[in-house]
Amino acid sequence: MRYVSTRGAAPTLSFEEAMLSGLARDGGLYVPETWPRMAPDAIAALAGLPYEEVARRVMTPFLGDAFTADEFAAIVNRAYAGFGHAARAPLAQVDANDWVLELHHGPTLAFKDFAMQLIGQMFELSLGRSGGRVTIVGATSGDTGSAAIEAFRGLDAADVFILYPHGRVSEVQRRQMTTPQEANVHAIAVEGDFDACQALVKAMFNDLDFRDRMKLAAVNSINWARILAQVVYYFSSAVALGAPSRSIMYTVPTGNFGDVFAGHVARAMGLPIERLVIATNANDILHRTLETGRHDRAGVQATTSPSMDIEVSSNFERLLFELYGCDGAATSQLMAELKGGGFVLRQGALAALREGFASGRADVAETAAEIARVRETTGMIVDPHTAVGLVAARTRRGDRATPMVTLGTAHAAKFPDAVEAACGVRPALPPRMCGLYDRAERVTVAPDNLMAVQTLIAERSRAAG
Ligand SMILES: *Cc1c(COP(=O)(O)O)cnc(C)c1O
Repeated sequence: MRYVSTRGAAPTLSFEEAMLSGLARDGGLYVPETWPRMAPDAIAALAGLPYEEVARRVMTPFLGDAFTADEFAAIVNRAYAGFGHAARAPLAQVDANDWVLELHHGPTLAFKDFAMQLIGQMFELSLGRSGGRVTIVGATSGDTGSAAIEAFRGLDAADVFILYPHGRVSEVQRRQMTTPQEANVHAIAVEGDFDACQALVKAMFNDLDFRDRMKLAAVNSINWARILAQVVYYFSSAVALGAPSRSIMYTVPTGNFGDVFAGHVARAMGLPIERLVIATNANDILHRTLETGRHDRAGVQATTSPSMDIEVSSNFERLLFELYGCDGAATSQLMAELKGGGFVLRQGALAALREGFASGRADVAETAAEIARVRETTGMIVDPHTAVGLVAARTRRGDRATPMVTLGTAHAAKFPDAVEAACGVRPALPPRMCGLYDRAERVTVAPDNLMAVQTLIAERSRAAG
């Protein structure tokens, strides 16, 4: 399996190379040259298997010769050993034929642990072979950073620098980034919003001299290996609900478009997913794109679902590449127009987008009302991101005979203030997280300035040698 850049001007790479480099050198994102297919009987055979076994079967066709079967089995087992639920990704029923896929049983209580824990183990094995070391740089609106720090803390293969918007992440998210004491993980609070953090990371990767000197690697959702890890729980949940003999709908609380793109990959591999509903909060660039065909930046507003507070959805580029017939030059052109403010999807591309996807939007008030409603009708307490998804799922429900699964992307205790304000109950941290509020914090505040951040990283990274 080879990987090509969405901008068509970077070398074709193996899985291992694409995983270690993250962003392509032409500014594009790596995608597999073709989608491996799983036949209906191979999908049916996943029913009842342990999550780890489903993970091995779904991911193996993408790996090429990166790992032996035994190595990969060990990677997967280590990655999910720290999860707080034997099913890893259990389903909870919230209505007659409606479900929440609980993706919050990992160490940082959000779905990003599924990918990040796996990537940590893959990096350690892959780099351990060559004795190499990398500098991981990432931007986060909250959950990615804590998941990365948790996955890489204490590993020999990597130093990790996480940029997050100062004062704009929840206290639990911040503490998860600032309390690990291992010397190879670094939390950097940037005086700017998430897009400023993301722009700094992109600029560091586009500075090829700095990139090579620091051996930069990205574990943001642009990293193909992360998307791949997220494909697995679509399969495990769909077969639990009767796939492949029945089709399933999914609603995905969306920010950077990584999680919902993983659903698109599962469908491309043969999983019968009828529709993928993209759920957005008031930062609704994707919802507007579906409605109007115009993909226009509109600035970021802070909401109660901060991990979805973004203006530019990086992984949407992967879908655009496909919608434009895998034309790297056309994709590059769209991205250049987006830098200038936006673009209009061409007719065929918009029609294809609407065929596979629908969208819904929930503002802060609708999100709060949904948290209260779910508590009243089921006793469950959902987090604001999941609640955005549940609103969109209801508005786009359609045929009630098809099961609707909403991805439960975080644990309510990660966002206790918003949840308490919505339903009057303050969600408690799971027992395995106790002590988080007592540990000392370690963080560096930095200006929104490329040079300053580069200097800081160069001083602290061991990969620079
Ligand atoms: C990251 C995140 C999202 C958005 O996921 P994308 O893959 O970026 O679209 C939604 N909810 C939570 C809780 C998250 O951490």
